[in-house]
Amino acid sequence: MSARDAQIAAGRARPNAPDRVNPDGSRSIRMKRACNGCGVQLGDATEDEMNRGILGLPLPDVRRECPTCGPTAPDPKCVPVTIVEGDALCTENECDHEPDDRTPDEYCDQVAERKVCATHSAFDREGTVTSTAAWPCQRWAKGGESR
Ligand SMILES: [Zn+2]
Ligand SMILES: [Zn+2]
Ligand SMILES: [Zn+2]
Repeated sequence: MSARDAQIAAGRARPNAPDRVNPDGSRSIRMKRACNGCGVQLGDATEDEMNRGILGLPLPDVRRECPTCGPTAPDPKCVPVTIVEGDALCTENECDHEPDDRTPDEYCDQVAERKVCATHSAFDREGTVTSTAAWPCQRWAKGGESR
């Protein structure tokens, strides 16, 4: 993580890239993140936010970044999500582990389900958790991390 990325992750800086016109005339539009309190555009969506959008996970609370909502916004709320851990083949139900009593939509016994905090964990595009905050989440209680 670069220093700039670290700043962005800490909510101190958010780039706001203009639309780019490609050589073939098409436009590349950066996804923007709107404040979840008042809807004002805050700048570029982070990679984590875009991944969450793709995965259908709750987007992080960004009211603290907003000039209007920031001063009165509470700490981002922790949201529990259940993730599955195991081999890619297993989590996609394409492995050869076949317990006799397993129904087709059930995971094999190599897969563990775990509850994590969606707010304080990071996800990549495939839905792999790259940074885990176990549930019940301790980050909010400590208070330091989200400020
Ligand atoms: Zn706002
Ligand atoms: Zn949390
Ligand atoms: Zn398996």
